[in-house]
Amino acid sequence: MQDIEAIGDLLKQPQTVLITTHQNPDADAMGSSLGLAGYLKKKGHRVTVVTPTDYPTGLHWLSGNDEVVAFEEKVRVQVSQLMEEASVIFCLDFSSLDRIRDLGPMVRQARATKILIDHHLEPEAFADLAYWDPSAAATTQLVFYLINRLGDKDLIDIPIAECLYAGLMTDTGSFRHPSTTGDVHRMAADLVDLHIDVSSIHRRIFDNTSLDKLRLLGYVLNEKLKVRPEYKFAYITLTADELKRFRSKTGDTEGMVNYALSVEGVVMAAILIDRGEEIRMSFRSIGEFSVRELASTHFNGGGHRNAAGGRSSLSLEETEQHLLAVLPQYQQQLLETV
Ligand code: 5GP
Ligand code: MN
Repeated sequence: MQDIEAIGDLLKQPQTVLITTHQNPDADAMGSSLGLAGYLKKKGHRVTVVTPTDYPTGLHWLSGNDEVVAFEEKVRVQVSQLMEEASVIFCLDFSSLDRIRDLGPMVRQARATKILIDHHLEPEAFADLAYWDPSAAATTQLVFYLINRLGDKDLIDIPIAECLYAGLMTDTGSFRHPSTTGDVHRMAADLVDLHIDVSSIHRRIFDNTSLDKLRLLGYVLNEKLKVRPEYKFAYITLTADELKRFRSKTGDTEGMVNYALSVEGVVMAAILIDRGEEIRMSFRSIGEFSVRELASTHFNGGGHRNAAGGRSSLSLEETEQHLLAVLPQYQQQLLETV
């Protein structure tokens, strides 16, 4: 699944490129998409980035953001046209078409050559070409290697480097997850050598929190964080009403689950959020315990061993009960995890 040469051959001709990424894009999704877009534009391709949903304003500083088309009903016709015109569609930072909402059927039907660049497990076989490596710490790492392998390292300028660094930094949890290898630091070093402003990037991403988001966090930590020591498990539930009360915006709940995981003695954490049409769940774990297995077995989800997501069409309370009901099967494994 490392079709780098074939991807390079395809890019020898000027292409009309559409780049897309997963719903509620994070810094790796946007950083890889906009970093790749910046590079492809320099190579003379026509490029448009289309996201399945909007994303936090804290990512709007990424270079190329102004030209991103975020899907909503009123741009459906425009997006369909872009899909039809595209000769190449890059799918970044997701591995199955159900992760891109309304764009899924459009990508499936499109005539373009589809290229997957991703680090999630178990990719769906929809792409014609792929550069897929589940051991990569971030999709921006793969974009960085792709540009290098195509001999174009010199085309990585500061705006592109900032995009790539943003994804690498966030997907490694600021260089502390087990995915943080020597290669990760070597890539970071290469980018830092270009004189990107590292502390400013950290500040723009992490110290850029709206008061509404902070107040929601305060409320959640005070009132909604529950700990089940018998499972070394902590979790948070959020109703649609609570989200509304705190004027929650896209991305405001991002990272919240990590507070549950940070409780001492806890090895697995979850957040269950009522998004109206469905309950969205995020899982985190440490060590050997696989939340991917739990999410895919019980909650129509997937992801990585230590970070996974899922969904449920039950009510929020029923979903919570379901989760608590499956925990006994994992109790021994959880208690053995340190
Ligand atoms: P998050 O909790 O941040 O939304 O997601 C954690 C990880 O799990 C991410 O890598 C994300 O791509 C993956 N993930 C989240 N939801 C799903 C899902 O419904 N299906 C699959 N296959 N992966 C998911
Ligand atoms: Mn990623």
